[in-house]
Amino acid sequence: MNMTQLPTQQVPAAFRRRLGGIVVTALSDGYLDASLGLLSGIDNDTGSGLLQAAGHRMPPRMNINTYLIQDGRRTILVDSGAGGLNGWGGRLPDALAAAGVLPQEIDTILLTHAHPDHVGGIADAGGRALFPAVQEVFIHEGELAFWNSDSVRNASPDGFRPFFDVARNAFAAYDGQIRTFKGEAILPGISAIELQGHTPGHTGYVLESQGEALLIWGDIVHFPDIQVLHPEVTIAFDADSRHAARTRARVLDQASSEGFLVGGMHFTSPSFSRIERIGSGYAMATESWTPALA
Ligand SMILES: [Zn+2]
Repeated sequence: MNMTQLPTQQVPAAFRRRLGGIVVTALSDGYLDASLGLLSGIDNDTGSGLLQAAGHRMPPRMNINTYLIQDGRRTILVDSGAGGLNGWGGRLPDALAAAGVLPQEIDTILLTHAHPDHVGGIADAGGRALFPAVQEVFIHEGELAFWNSDSVRNASPDGFRPFFDVARNAFAAYDGQIRTFKGEAILPGISAIELQGHTPGHTGYVLESQGEALLIWGDIVHFPDIQVLHPEVTIAFDADSRHAARTRARVLDQASSEGFLVGGMHFTSPSFSRIERIGSGYAMATESWTPALA
């Protein structure tokens, strides 16, 4: 009898979309296991009830996404996933390959912030850049200063200190190519907007082309099926949880009133959504994947 092994991994996942004259591809890096006990402002039963009502299986998993922007001038990666650190993510190379893009074709990286599930994939543990042709890595100046500060690192809890090592390893791999900003237009058609709270320099990127707009909002939500409905729910990874909740409420309000498209690093799938106001909270209207590039 011819025994064949059953698959052990999900197939690479990507969702490509035209935005005016540019093309944006949402890419899955995989997931990390994350307990609902990390959340504040909601009890476990209510949280798991919301996830199950939205079709999630337990235990809860936090998906990790990145976004690729191709505008005819640059090939830009927004965040890099976790790179398999701690068993988190690590599927970005497969997703990029499925999207037909080689790591050496990426020339620009935009970072929303420097947590390990966002920068873990840009360098290997030995400090080697995994995107060797990158000319510029954009990061908020406050974010860079935070992770490079020895006094902040020394004052942090023991369990949090390895995060500094991962961030510094990532920065060192692109020494000389780091470009800092505060909150401004950084490239043609791309503006950085400050979304502080989750981290001191947490940033979203607004892409605009031919009257269409997309905000890639980083970690405005970690569990979208909980925190979009309940923006007041915060997570233990927030540097300043009250500030993070205020920022989330402000961005959701703006997205719902202005109607622009949003992308997020912890959306349930690599995807794009619009936000609708529902009572005191909001709901996501996630675009359906389509086999035609539209
Ligand atoms: Zn994250």
